[in-house]
Amino acid sequence: MTTSRKPLMAGNWKMHHTHLEAIQVVQKLSYRLDDRDYKAVEVAVCPAFTALRSVQTTLDSDRIPIALGAQNCHWESHGAYTGEVSPAMLAKLNVRYVIVGHSERRELFGETDDAVARKVRAVLGAQMSPILCVGETLEERDLGSTDEKVAGQTRAALAGLKADDVARCVIAYEPIWAIGTGKTATPGDANATIGVVRNTIRELAGSVADETRILYGGSVKPGNTAELMAMPEIDGGLVGGASLDPDDFARVIRYGR
Ligand code: PEP
Repeated sequence: MTTSRKPLMAGNWKMHHTHLEAIQVVQKLSYRLDDRDYKAVEVAVCPAFTALRSVQTTLDSDRIPIALGAQNCHWESHGAYTGEVSPAMLAKLNVRYVIVGHSERRELFGETDDAVARKVRAVLGAQMSPILCVGETLEERDLGSTDEKVAGQTRAALAGLKADDVARCVIAYEPIWAIGTGKTATPGDANATIGVVRNTIRELAGSVADETRILYGGSVKPGNTAELMAMPEIDGGLVGGASLDPDDFARVIRYGR
């Protein structure tokens, strides 16, 4: 099927790169990309909170067409929540995407499906797009419950949203056992599971599912991008380790065209 879904390659820098390093990385990345890349693929970087303002001003002043993303947020717009950052604060920095429910936040910081659902709504309410992460553990995969897990997480986060709002969401299917491990789902398996996520979105929001971008994440690197991106259901990548280095990330973007 031909679709109107423009691929998105989003770099998740996690807790890496000071603001000074982040400026250098985004500049170097821009030197390696050209109009053909930006035309074919939407590129985003998601630095740590401390680097957002520096990266924003670099992108703006050098007119670099890379979108800015954040890695997390709170669901409230302001208040007594020490250590938290609100969607409104991110929106003021021209942040376009916010990663929500990354497995590291779910597993290491106890983020529940309920918190993820609130964050999705708050991000949409601040006129940004959530990159909602779903994915199974190795144990769940071995038990054959991958489909049930990703469909459940998708429903928990998106149920009750208007179709227009669902259309503004991006989903990242990230098998937890493949994140940062060097192991990747086979393109066929990733494609099939993303198909399950898309069918779940169809149940919730109808034909908008055909416009929703669903990324694959989990040890995406230059050597495996082309075969993953050749799959009809895969609309891009959420890239951790390989996005830290501008050469590697530029190659991932190019192979994703
Ligand atoms: C991620 O951070 O979402 C991720 C997929 O990391 P990596 O590419 O390093 O596996």
